[in-house]
Amino acid sequence: MGVLALQGDVREHLEVLRAQGAEAVLVRRPEELDAVDGLIFPGGESTTMVKLADRFGLLEPLRAAVGDGLPAYGSCAGMILLADRLLDAPPDQETIGGLDVTVRRNAFGRQVDSFESDIDFSGLADAPVHAVFIRAPWVEEAGQAVEVLGRVVGGPADGRIVAVRQGNLVATSFHPELTGDRRVHAMFVDLVRSDVASRDIASRDIASRDIASRDIASRTENES
Ligand code: GLN
Repeated sequence: MGVLALQGDVREHLEVLRAQGAEAVLVRRPEELDAVDGLIFPGGESTTMVKLADRFGLLEPLRAAVGDGLPAYGSCAGMILLADRLLDAPPDQETIGGLDVTVRRNAFGRQVDSFESDIDFSGLADAPVHAVFIRAPWVEEAGQAVEVLGRVVGGPADGRIVAVRQGNLVATSFHPELTGDRRVHAMFVDLVRSDVASRDIASRDIASRDIASRDIASRTENES
């Protein structure tokens, strides 16, 4: 598993991943990206991260990897990076994209530095997730293919979408890496493990198809 290590709360994500028994490494270069089965986009400052990704020659490789189905999880600024569309962002702010959502930056209000709430998070067993929001975005609109995993309960942001999944992409507006609640990371590690397993099966199928067609080809050659 990789954690994009350009800026933000990289160390916290690494620690949670390692606590899940996952082998976790830093990703700063395209070769490092090629070596991982799943990637976390940390919380931090999305404008800075995207500029650094561009400077490190990582922006296009990240878009290609995510577009190709690399499992990715973005928390807070990471959610902004995975969004296809942004609101309240500088007009030239680029994203990596992949999630068919419109994300509003600093949605809880610029003055509201941080805000905590219990979130009903579908797919997670036990009690709700205690979520910490720090100058956080929310999902203003989600496309058909996007599964809403969590919404704010109560308060002025009641009902706002703060956790989503679309295929291999997961994003939360909040920071489970800061609260010691490992369930969101555990869910993502499971997603990555099943993706690896299904790719192994697919490549075994391709390999056995190749062998079968080689057999047919050599039989046809022998017969002719
Ligand atoms: N407001 C930040 C941004 O737009 C995100 C804040 C965070 O990741 N805690 O990138």
